[in-house]
Formats: sequence, C-alpha cells, structure tokens
Amino acid sequence: MALVGMGCQSSSIPMMRVRGARKPANKIALNIGLLCSKSFDDSIFEGLLKGKYGIERHEITKMNIKGKLQLWLTGDRYTEVPLKECHEYTREGCNYCPDFAAEHADLSLGGLGQTGGWTLTVIRTDRGRDVFDRMVKEGWVEFRPAADEDPAAVALMHKLARNQRKRWPTPVEIDAGRPGMVPNGPAKAQPKAATA
Ligand SMILES: Cc1cc2nc3c(=O)[nH]c(=O)nc-3n(C[C@H](O)[C@H](O)[C@H](O)COP(=O)(O)OP(=O)(O)OC[C@H]3O[C@@H](n4cnc5c(N)ncnc54)[C@H](O)[C@@H]3O)c2cc1C
Ligand code: SF4
Repeated sequence: MALVGMGCQSSSIPMMRVRGARKPANKIALNIGLLCSKSFDDSIFEGLLKGKYGIERHEITKMNIKGKLQLWLTGDRYTEVPLKECHEYTREGCNYCPDFAAEHADLSLGGLGQTGGWTLTVIRTDRGRDVFDRMVKEGWVEFRPAADEDPAAVALMHKLARNQRKRWPTPVEIDAGRPGMVPNGPAKAQPKAATA
C-alpha cells in the first residue's frame, strides 16, 4: 500500500517505525507527502461556502488553493473565495504544525509555483528515489529538474518550510499555555523534538 497525505499524516509511518510498531508500518511501501500550510475545518462548508455563497457541498467537484480558494462546481461552473474569509476555519492543530514540506515522506509533492500541470517533487529517501526513477524510466511521469526550471519555486518552498518551523511551540510557550494547548500537558515530552 501507499499512503498519500499531508505532513501530519505522512509522519505517522516513520513515527510508527521508530516507536517499534514496525509490522503495520512496513505494510506501507511508499509514503507520499503533500506540501501543506493549513487545512480547514469541516464547518467551512456550512459556515462559509453554503452560508455566504450558497454553495452546497455536493455541488463541489474539485477544490484548490492558489492565492484564493478555487472551486469547480457541477454544471461546468467555477468560482473563487478570498482566502482571508477562510482563515477563521483553519483547523486548530495547523496553527502549531511545523512541517510545511512533509519531511518524513519518501516523496513530497506540492503545487508551488508550478504551472501547466507540473508538480514540485522532493525525493527524500532511497525508496522514493527508486520508485521515482522507475516511474520516469517506464514513462509514467515526465521529469525536469526544478532547481534549473523553476528555482523561485524551490526557494519559496525552503522559505515556507523555514517559516512554518516557527509554529512549533517552544517548551516556554507550552508552559505558558498557548491557546488550544493543554497547559503543561506535553511539556515533558516536547524539548527533544523541539531541538531536533
Ligand atoms: C490540505 C492540503 C493542503 C495543501 N497545501 C499545499 C500548499 O500549501 N502548498 C503546496 O504547494 N501544495 C499544497 N498541497 C498539495 C497540492 O494541492 C497537490 O496535492 C500536490 O501538488 C499534488 O499535485 P498533483 O497534481 O499530483 O495532484 P492534484 O493537484 O490532486 O491533481 C490531480 C488531478 O488529477 C485529476 N484526477 C484525479 N483522478 C482522475 C481520473 N481518474 N481521471 C482524470 N483525472 C483525474 C484531479 O481532478 C486533479 O485535477 C496541499 C494538499 C492538501 C490536500
Ligand atoms: S498544516 Fe500541518 S497539521 Fe495542518 S493539515 Fe497541513 S500538515 Fe496537517
């Protein structure tokens, strides 16, 4: 099986491996991570999309975020919602998520900067390299080096990854009880991870 998910999901497999749950973890042959700065709570459908724009959930055929929330709807319709209206629906946990670039995955994929159907792809492990090379060789994917073709996208990815690291609460902030954190809760478990 392959797992496809944002950083918080793609971290689960490597974490299971280091914590001794190797048997279930090894059932995942390939771990594909998606670059991710946030996701929205389910209430965005009722609260904003239906509430303000009259869009029913079943009408949405595809969504994307490119500076705004893009919505493709049934009947060949398309509409956009300003991102600033979406922010209040940000999932609480995302405010503390340090992993923009899905750094535990074998391959990390993102939509940054790329146009015309290209996907920015980071190959992180030998397993990812092996699968990717075979996909190119067998003609499943077309490849061009991002560092040469779109250095701005690569630079932006590094910048966003660095910035998102700052969301990771420090032990001091945890002790002070940032909103949404259990005061003093994870403080004992955190320092190692925070300095890793
Ligand atoms: C919650 C979340 C947050 C994200 N945040 C970011 C971010 O901040 N920055 C970033 O760079 N990336 C982000 N991404 C990743 C980005 O949106 C893409 O998922 C990623 O770039 C992979 O792109 P893709 O083209 O491979 O897949 P997708 O963008 O998912 O495109 C797949 C396409 O294939 C089409 N398709 C699917 N099945 C079929 C079929 N059977 N026949 C024909 N067409 C089909 C779909 O309609 C779609 O157009 C995020 C993803 C998620 C889920
Ligand atoms: S920002 Fe982090 S916690 Fe939120 S969905 Fe993306 S990877 Fe998961």
